[in-house]
Amino acid sequence: MSETEKLGIDTRAVHAPPAAVPAETPFAPPVYRTSVFQFDSAEQYADVLAGRTPGYVYTRIDNPTSDAFAAAVAALESADAGQPFASGMAAISTSLLTFLSAGDHAVAVGALYGGTYGLLHHLLPRWGIETTFVSDAAAAAAAIRPTTRVVWTETLANPTMRVPDFRALAAAAHAGGALLAVDSTFATPVVCRPLEWGADLVVHSATKYIGGHSDATGGVVVGRPDLLAQVRATRAELGGMLAPDEAFLLHRGLTTLPLRVRRHCASALEFAHAMAAHPKVASVDYAGLPDHVDHALATEQFDGGLYGGVVTITPRGDRAAGQRLCNAVRLAGNVTSLGGAHTVVSHIASTTHRQLDDAALAASGIGAASVRVSVGLEDAADIVADFTRALESLPD
Ligand code: PLP
Repeated sequence: MSETEKLGIDTRAVHAPPAAVPAETPFAPPVYRTSVFQFDSAEQYADVLAGRTPGYVYTRIDNPTSDAFAAAVAALESADAGQPFASGMAAISTSLLTFLSAGDHAVAVGALYGGTYGLLHHLLPRWGIETTFVSDAAAAAAAIRPTTRVVWTETLANPTMRVPDFRALAAAAHAGGALLAVDSTFATPVVCRPLEWGADLVVHSATKYIGGHSDATGGVVVGRPDLLAQVRATRAELGGMLAPDEAFLLHRGLTTLPLRVRRHCASALEFAHAMAAHPKVASVDYAGLPDHVDHALATEQFDGGLYGGVVTITPRGDRAAGQRLCNAVRLAGNVTSLGGAHTVVSHIASTTHRQLDDAALAASGIGAASVRVSVGLEDAADIVADFTRALESLPD
């Protein structure tokens, strides 16, 4: 009888033989679904935990599957380092809390995702962090103070699809000793890589295009290794780490990201042109249309012919017209997220921007009837036909 066979059944159940760690490199990223890593000695454990020796200790701090995903995003964004997060908001809040302390100031440029706006506008002031909200690079330069540490913007602002001037923003931020951080969720690294235009940090909600199948939640921050080391340290304290199962799905999504995003963009352009020509549509916001206010800037900063997969269409009429359109389309569900394989719609005034009345919506360049459309991977002709039929069903 071996030593193991002398142990009780409960002990043997707990102390099962460990899985082999193969010498061969796994072709697909393995899922390290473990919360802890075991050391050969107490000394080795202490050294890794203290950072004297590289290694893994605890999945809330680092996990190989999650790290591999972030490194893969960094490679796409022309970044030297990346860190994974449990959600886009975990990535955003951790980044902001890394570089902003009590008494510091931030400048936010253009329309922001509601969660980011809420964090900057409502939550961070409780810790003595103030934000000035401005609309363009010139106003951002004027708003910078000696205490400004971060300039924050988004590559394609929701739902107007405005595009910031990265070079001007980076110059303004750096002249004031601040970092330029860009939420590039709507663009993805396939459309635009803000680090190549002078940004210091790029943030994504990986829940959207990167995952691409509406089945995983995550976030990622990429940039210089010295900045990312600080972001990682804050995440270890705050706890917004990406779980390995989610990381596996998001990493798999990256493999087809360029293929999917090019298709999203081509279909969105076709859709935007078709909607702009429809008599029941008052306006279309899409940076790929020549009459969009930022078309030239987008064409300069984005990769050839790609303008993203989200189009905002405003049917003629009031709020009810927008909701009727959302109810009349058959291929597109009413869904809050975006960037997945399915076309989805969101009536902006009653969902993502519900806190704004009609006057405030108009001041932000949003119509009461506006509908955000995340153009999916279906046949573009079918999407256009579905929306055309739905528009025609609206009362005159
Ligand atoms: N940034 C943008 C531009 C978004 O649209 C979203 C989500 O809708 C987020 C960040 C937040 O990401 P998550 O929902 O993964 O926390």
